[in-house]
Amino acid sequence: MEILNYINGEWIRPDVKEYLDVINPATGALEARTPLCGVAAVNAAAEAAAQALPGWRRIPAQDRVQYLFKLKFLLEDNLDEISRTITNECGKTFEEAKAEMRRAIENVEVAGGIPMMSKGEISEDIAPGIDEIMLRQPVGVCATIAPFNFPGMIPFWYLPYALATGNTYIVKPSERVPMTMMVIFRLIEKLGLPKGVINMVHGGKEAVDGILDHPAIRAITFVGSTPTARYIYRRAAENGKRVQAQGGAKNPVIVLPDADMEMATKIIADSAFGCAGQRCLAVSWAVTVGEARNPFMELICDAAASRTVGYGLDAGVQMGPVINHGSKARIEQLIGVGVNEGAAIPVDGRATSVKGYENGAFIRPTILADVKPGSEIARTEIFGPVLSLMHVNTIDEAIALANSGVYGNQASLFTSSGSAARKFRYEVDAGNIGINIGVAAPMAFFPFSGWKESFFGDMHGQGMDAVEFFTQKKIVVERWPKEWTRKF
Ligand code: NAD
Repeated sequence: MEILNYINGEWIRPDVKEYLDVINPATGALEARTPLCGVAAVNAAAEAAAQALPGWRRIPAQDRVQYLFKLKFLLEDNLDEISRTITNECGKTFEEAKAEMRRAIENVEVAGGIPMMSKGEISEDIAPGIDEIMLRQPVGVCATIAPFNFPGMIPFWYLPYALATGNTYIVKPSERVPMTMMVIFRLIEKLGLPKGVINMVHGGKEAVDGILDHPAIRAITFVGSTPTARYIYRRAAENGKRVQAQGGAKNPVIVLPDADMEMATKIIADSAFGCAGQRCLAVSWAVTVGEARNPFMELICDAAASRTVGYGLDAGVQMGPVINHGSKARIEQLIGVGVNEGAAIPVDGRATSVKGYENGAFIRPTILADVKPGSEIARTEIFGPVLSLMHVNTIDEAIALANSGVYGNQASLFTSSGSAARKFRYEVDAGNIGINIGVAAPMAFFPFSGWKESFFGDMHGQGMDAVEFFTQKKIVVERWPKEWTRKF
């Protein structure tokens, strides 16, 4: 597939010297080459978006959302093609890709309610004849910088909200997975939006820096790793922009002895190994309490060892490869660190290959047991199909352990006790909580929360948070003395 920029309603072949090969992580086939654009492409997109802004914001919100209604049906009608593209560039299974796109579509649906969600407020007679009005106006030109692991869904935490609230918009997909947004932009093109309202620029750091520094871009959303999130947050804020930056994760799950062990194991395995562990809500370490240790250990090792790994478009495959060989090497090296630090490795998924896909970046599910709190493997985000096990004697110790990390994206608890669940929900420091849930992904009408070093900013993506993020409030105080009215 040829990867092009989309600027001012036109497909543009970028004039660049450097490209990044997009390799199918399962088959090893070359799928595309991402042009690594620089500041010139960003400037052109920002200029187009700035020019489109006055006309777009004048269109009533109830008319702007009509484009979203059309987009919803286009996405649904093309779900299989988009999902196949996700599998071929990102590695996850076809079913996982479809589930990803369903959440994207759900965000389009929720943003369809923006005429109501973005309406203003008025207080009459704050003093006799004086009214106070709160208007929500668009922020201006906005941009999203996306990660590789959800090439279709993550831009949709923002895109429909940014457009429907009257902003113009630029997307920069991850350079590792540019094809999904190419397919989606071919659909967006069919909407007939005014030129420049939505634009796409491909590239890596240089394009990102262009976005961070461009004076016309007023708000930026980012999703990716914590070091990049911190950088984006700092540089965008320094330039006076509104910014939210979602970072990495290391999500704990606590298993109490009263949990339904079979259900817990199945759900935890799906969370840890689904999308090959490359999900920011994947559980990556499990803390068993008291007598939960042995039954959980036995069942989770069986679940890990029996998972079917392969090319995500083949029938019966439960887990695809990781994104590339560099990532595979990094994950295997980290597993080695865990073993050197004294962890046992009852299920070892390293040095594996899949018949027929010998060039694929496959790692099988891996379990590290007796991982020491505070060790490197206990602290580092692995972002692969690896579950670390720890054990304590009380729920208080388990919660203290869960709160000891720097991240706060998600924490889960498996129990049949309501009071334990309430205690956990109350005390644990994370923005998304699962009670007998492995991936506590918020529906599109809730914010995609995230705390501590998993998030920099205050308003999140999705739902009302996104409406808040993409609008700025204007307060108007008006005096209309009674005596003036009498003149008519
Ligand atoms: P990444 O940080 O490497 O890249 C994300 C984006 O930042 C890409 O568009 C990339 O071009 C850009 N980028 C990368 N390095 C940069 C630099 N030095 N300067 C400027 N821009 C740069 O992240 P990734 O590997 O694509 O995604 C995986 C990470 O994202 C994991 O850490 C995962 O936990 C996190 N993630 C978080 C959430 C969340 O909601 N908190 C969701 C999905 C993924």
